[in-house]
Amino acid sequence: MRVKVIKVKEALIPSGLPDIDWAFNPYVGCQHGCIYCYGREYVSDREVARYWGEVVGVKENVVDLLKHEVKHKKLGVVGVGTITDAYQPLELEYELTKSSLNVLLGSDFKVSIQTKSDLILRDRELLSKYGNRVDVGVTITTMNEEIAKLLEPGAPPPSRRVRVLEELSESDISTWVFLGPIVPGLTDDLNTIREVVEVAANTNSELYYDKLRVKNFMLMPDHPLYRAARRALRYRWGRLFKVITEICRKYGVRCGFGLDYSASVSGESRGVISLDEFAKKH
Ligand code: SF4
Repeated sequence: MRVKVIKVKEALIPSGLPDIDWAFNPYVGCQHGCIYCYGREYVSDREVARYWGEVVGVKENVVDLLKHEVKHKKLGVVGVGTITDAYQPLELEYELTKSSLNVLLGSDFKVSIQTKSDLILRDRELLSKYGNRVDVGVTITTMNEEIAKLLEPGAPPPSRRVRVLEELSESDISTWVFLGPIVPGLTDDLNTIREVVEVAANTNSELYYDKLRVKNFMLMPDHPLYRAARRALRYRWGRLFKVITEICRKYGVRCGFGLDYSASVSGESRGVISLDEFAKKH
């Protein structure tokens, strides 16, 4: 693991994500090293992109920049950790996320945090203090620890992520589960989906789902997702999404597609299928 301490010119970047005005990423790269991570496609540092998970940049001046920017930039929702995990292990030492949250929340911005780490519980008191301006999403692709380890080698196991949802929702913080990316052949079976929806139900969380978005790096024959990525290209995602919606309805969980639903399922069947039909096929 190599750490690069760097300086940046801007802390808050206009976001192209729905419902998020600003993107805030205190680190460049991510120690969690998920094998599907799209983040590597959005960083300009070639070394970080190439050795994703092994080289991470620490933006040493980001908190000072933020203190200045909150006085001039338009109030809105800040997505914390859009192409990094703001609670990766380095945060324990550098505390850039914690300091930045103090600045943002102390300046009336709203924050939407997405993480896979229970390190966020360190900041529970702060998040709870500003609970009406905070929501926290926890990514759970599967409750199966072995598969999670394969997909997300440096991230805490799913059981620790569940604890985050439990503890934050007990503190009256809005929580959501991100079920994604769904990987054909690994995390698209009925049991996996049901277990994750159950977590959302038990922790009073909403749920967002997303498909595996195939990127060039996954289509290299030696990449561990090669077969899954090829399957994903011809997968009938629309059918799966209907099933997820049906399971969520049964559990009383509010759910929705993580990104642009219409763009991602165009040309595929939108017919509703039953759980039995789905189970037979998988
Ligand atoms: S935790 Fe998120 S940012 Fe980090 S490697 Fe995994 S998908 Fe990428």
